Amino acid sequence: MNKIKTLINKKQIKKRIKTIAKEIDKDFKDEQIIIICVLKGSFYFVNDIIRKLKNKNILIDFVKIKSYSNTSSTNNIDFQLDTSFNLKNKNIIIIDDILDTGNTLYFLTNHIKKMGPKKIKTCVLLNKQARRKKEINADYVGFEIDNNFVVGYGLDYEEKYRQLQYIAILKK
Ligand code: 5GP
Ligand code: MG
Repeated sequence: MNKIKTLINKKQIKKRIKTIAKEIDKDFKDEQIIIICVLKGSFYFVNDIIRKLKNKNILIDFVKIKSYSNTSSTNNIDFQLDTSFNLKNKNIIIIDDILDTGNTLYFLTNHIKKMGPKKIKTCVLLNKQARRKKEINADYVGFEIDNNFVVGYGLDYEEKYRQLQYIAILKK
Protein backbone atom coordinates (compact mmCIF):
# COMPACT_ATOMS: atom_id res chain seq x y z
CA MET A 1 0.00 0.00 0.00
CA ASN A 2 1.09 3.60 -0.51
CA LYS A 3 1.79 6.11 2.21
CA ILE A 4 -1.10 8.41 3.06
CA LYS A 5 -1.30 11.56 5.15
CA THR A 6 -4.54 13.08 6.49
CA LEU A 7 -5.42 16.37 4.82
CA ILE A 8 -9.02 16.93 5.95
CA ASN A 9 -10.39 15.00 8.89
CA LYS A 10 -13.83 13.53 9.52
CA LYS A 11 -14.90 16.37 11.83
CA GLN A 12 -13.92 19.06 9.32
CA ILE A 13 -15.84 17.28 6.55
CA LYS A 14 -18.93 16.93 8.73
CA LYS A 15 -18.90 20.60 9.70
CA ARG A 16 -18.45 21.81 6.12
CA ILE A 17 -21.23 19.56 4.83
CA LYS A 18 -23.65 21.06 7.35
CA THR A 19 -22.84 24.55 6.04
CA ILE A 20 -23.24 23.55 2.39
CA ALA A 21 -26.59 21.89 3.15
CA LYS A 22 -27.75 25.14 4.77
CA GLU A 23 -26.72 27.10 1.66
CA ILE A 24 -28.66 24.71 -0.58
CA ASP A 25 -31.72 24.97 1.67
CA LYS A 26 -31.47 28.76 1.56
CA ASP A 27 -31.19 28.79 -2.25
CA PHE A 28 -33.99 26.33 -3.03
CA LYS A 29 -36.30 26.45 0.04
CA ASP A 30 -38.79 23.60 -0.52
CA GLU A 31 -38.56 23.55 -4.29
CA GLN A 32 -37.90 20.13 -5.79
CA ILE A 33 -34.26 19.38 -6.58
CA ILE A 34 -32.88 16.52 -8.64
CA ILE A 35 -29.47 15.60 -7.27
CA ILE A 36 -27.16 14.09 -9.87
CA CYS A 37 -24.49 12.03 -8.14
CA VAL A 38 -21.38 11.51 -10.27
CA LEU A 39 -20.15 7.96 -9.65
CA LYS A 40 -18.18 6.53 -8.17
CA GLY A 41 -16.28 9.17 -6.21
CA SER A 42 -19.13 11.27 -4.86
CA PHE A 43 -21.28 8.57 -3.29
CA TYR A 44 -20.16 9.34 0.28
CA PHE A 45 -20.51 13.09 -0.16
CA VAL A 46 -23.98 12.88 -1.71
CA ASN A 47 -25.11 10.45 0.97
CA ASP A 48 -24.02 12.78 3.77
CA ILE A 49 -25.21 16.03 2.21
CA ILE A 50 -28.75 14.94 1.31
CA ARG A 51 -29.38 13.75 4.86
CA LYS A 52 -28.54 17.23 6.16
CA LEU A 53 -31.03 19.02 3.90
CA LYS A 54 -34.22 20.33 5.50
CA ASN A 55 -35.79 20.22 2.05
CA LYS A 56 -37.39 16.79 1.65
CA ASN A 57 -38.43 17.38 -1.95
CA ILE A 58 -35.31 15.68 -3.28
CA LEU A 59 -34.88 13.12 -6.07
CA ILE A 60 -31.58 11.35 -6.66
CA ASP A 61 -30.04 9.97 -9.81
CA PHE A 62 -26.62 8.67 -10.77
CA VAL A 63 -24.36 9.22 -13.74
CA LYS A 64 -21.03 7.58 -14.35
CA ILE A 65 -18.31 9.34 -16.23
CA LYS A 66 -14.58 9.14 -16.62
CA SER A 67 -12.36 11.84 -18.05
CA TYR A 68 -8.92 10.91 -19.31
CA SER A 69 -6.47 13.69 -19.99
CA ASN A 70 -3.53 13.04 -22.24
CA THR A 71 -0.36 15.08 -22.65
CA SER A 72 -1.88 17.56 -25.09
CA SER A 73 -4.81 19.59 -23.82
CA THR A 74 -7.32 17.34 -25.58
CA ASN A 75 -9.26 14.90 -23.47
CA ASN A 76 -11.55 11.93 -23.79
CA ILE A 77 -14.79 11.55 -21.96
CA ASP A 78 -16.07 8.08 -21.27
CA PHE A 79 -19.77 8.52 -20.47
CA GLN A 80 -20.83 5.21 -18.98
CA LEU A 81 -24.22 5.89 -17.40
CA ASP A 82 -26.69 8.68 -18.14
CA THR A 83 -29.59 10.00 -16.07
CA SER A 84 -32.93 8.26 -16.47
CA PHE A 85 -35.00 11.31 -15.43
CA ASN A 86 -36.64 13.88 -17.63
CA LEU A 87 -34.82 17.03 -16.48
CA LYS A 88 -36.95 19.54 -18.38
CA ASN A 89 -37.85 22.52 -16.15
CA LYS A 90 -36.28 20.86 -13.10
CA ASN A 91 -33.82 22.22 -10.55
CA ILE A 92 -30.61 20.24 -10.83
CA ILE A 93 -27.59 20.01 -8.57
CA ILE A 94 -24.70 18.03 -10.01
CA ILE A 95 -22.50 16.71 -7.21
CA ASP A 96 -18.96 15.50 -7.88
CA ASP A 97 -16.09 14.59 -5.60
CA ILE A 98 -13.42 16.90 -7.00
CA LEU A 99 -13.10 19.63 -9.59
CA ASP A 100 -9.69 19.23 -11.18
CA THR A 101 -9.13 20.05 -14.88
CA GLY A 102 -12.85 20.76 -15.14
CA ASN A 103 -13.39 18.40 -18.08
CA THR A 104 -15.93 16.21 -16.30
CA LEU A 105 -18.15 18.97 -14.94
CA TYR A 106 -17.85 21.01 -18.14
CA PHE A 107 -19.06 18.06 -20.20
CA LEU A 108 -21.81 17.16 -17.78
CA THR A 109 -23.26 20.65 -17.33
CA ASN A 110 -23.41 21.09 -21.11
CA HIS A 111 -25.01 17.68 -21.51
CA ILE A 112 -27.68 18.51 -18.91
CA LYS A 113 -28.28 22.03 -20.23
CA LYS A 114 -29.44 20.41 -23.48
CA MET A 115 -32.24 18.73 -21.53
CA GLY A 116 -33.79 22.13 -20.70
CA PRO A 117 -33.60 22.26 -16.90
CA LYS A 118 -34.94 25.24 -14.96
CA LYS A 119 -31.73 25.77 -12.99
CA ILE A 120 -28.37 23.91 -12.81
CA LYS A 121 -26.03 24.24 -9.85
CA THR A 122 -22.79 22.37 -9.30
CA CYS A 123 -21.37 21.16 -6.03
CA VAL A 124 -17.95 19.62 -5.36
CA LEU A 125 -16.32 18.50 -2.16
CA LEU A 126 -12.85 19.54 -3.31
CA ASN A 127 -11.56 22.19 -5.68
CA LYS A 128 -8.07 21.83 -7.17
CA GLN A 129 -7.92 25.18 -8.93
CA ALA A 130 -4.27 24.84 -10.00
CA ARG A 131 -4.98 22.26 -12.71
CA ARG A 132 -8.03 23.83 -14.32
CA LYS A 133 -8.22 23.63 -18.13
CA LYS A 134 -11.88 24.56 -18.65
CA GLU A 135 -13.51 27.76 -17.51
CA ILE A 136 -15.76 26.31 -14.90
CA ASN A 137 -16.29 26.85 -11.20
CA ALA A 138 -18.64 25.11 -8.79
CA ASP A 139 -21.46 26.93 -7.01
CA TYR A 140 -20.90 25.03 -3.77
CA VAL A 141 -17.33 24.05 -2.80
CA GLY A 142 -16.33 22.05 0.25
CA PHE A 143 -12.61 22.75 0.40
CA GLU A 144 -9.95 24.38 -1.75
CA ILE A 145 -6.92 22.10 -1.97
CA ASP A 146 -3.42 22.30 -3.40
CA ASN A 147 -2.23 20.25 -6.33
CA ASN A 148 -1.84 16.91 -4.56
CA PHE A 149 -3.41 13.57 -5.39
CA VAL A 150 -5.97 12.82 -2.69
CA VAL A 151 -7.90 9.73 -1.67
CA GLY A 152 -10.59 8.76 0.81
CA TYR A 153 -14.19 9.68 1.50
CA GLY A 154 -15.16 8.17 -1.87
CA LEU A 155 -12.03 9.10 -3.80
CA ASP A 156 -9.83 6.25 -4.96
CA TYR A 157 -6.40 5.31 -6.17
CA GLU A 158 -6.73 2.25 -8.39
CA GLU A 159 -10.14 1.66 -6.76
CA LYS A 160 -8.65 1.53 -3.27
CA TYR A 161 -9.00 3.90 -0.28
CA ARG A 162 -12.60 4.91 -1.03
CA GLN A 163 -13.74 3.74 2.39
CA LEU A 164 -11.58 6.12 4.43
CA GLN A 165 -13.70 8.52 6.46
CA TYR A 166 -11.26 11.38 5.85
CA ILE A 167 -9.37 12.89 2.91
CA ALA A 168 -5.69 12.03 2.66
CA ILE A 169 -2.79 12.91 0.40
CA LEU A 170 -1.44 9.84 -1.34
CA LYS A 171 2.30 9.52 -1.86
CA LYS A 172 2.70 7.62 -5.13
P1 5GP B 1 -11.62 16.65 -14.00
O1 5GP B 1 -12.48 16.13 -15.11
O2 5GP B 1 -12.12 17.90 -13.34
O3 5GP B 1 -10.17 16.75 -14.40
O4 5GP B 1 -11.51 15.54 -12.92
C1 5GP B 1 -12.52 15.14 -12.17
C2 5GP B 1 -12.32 13.69 -11.82
O5 5GP B 1 -10.92 13.29 -11.78
C3 5GP B 1 -12.80 13.50 -10.44
O6 5GP B 1 -14.18 13.20 -10.44
C4 5GP B 1 -11.94 12.36 -9.95
O7 5GP B 1 -12.55 11.14 -10.32
C5 5GP B 1 -10.63 12.50 -10.68
N1 5GP B 1 -9.61 13.17 -9.84
C6 5GP B 1 -9.08 14.38 -10.04
N2 5GP B 1 -8.17 14.69 -9.08
C7 5GP B 1 -8.17 13.63 -8.23
C8 5GP B 1 -7.46 13.35 -7.02
O8 5GP B 1 -6.65 14.11 -6.48
N3 5GP B 1 -7.71 12.14 -6.45
C9 5GP B 1 -8.59 11.24 -6.97
N4 5GP B 1 -8.76 10.10 -6.33
N5 5GP B 1 -9.29 11.49 -8.11
C10 5GP B 1 -9.08 12.67 -8.72
MG1 MG C 1 -14.92 11.22 -10.62
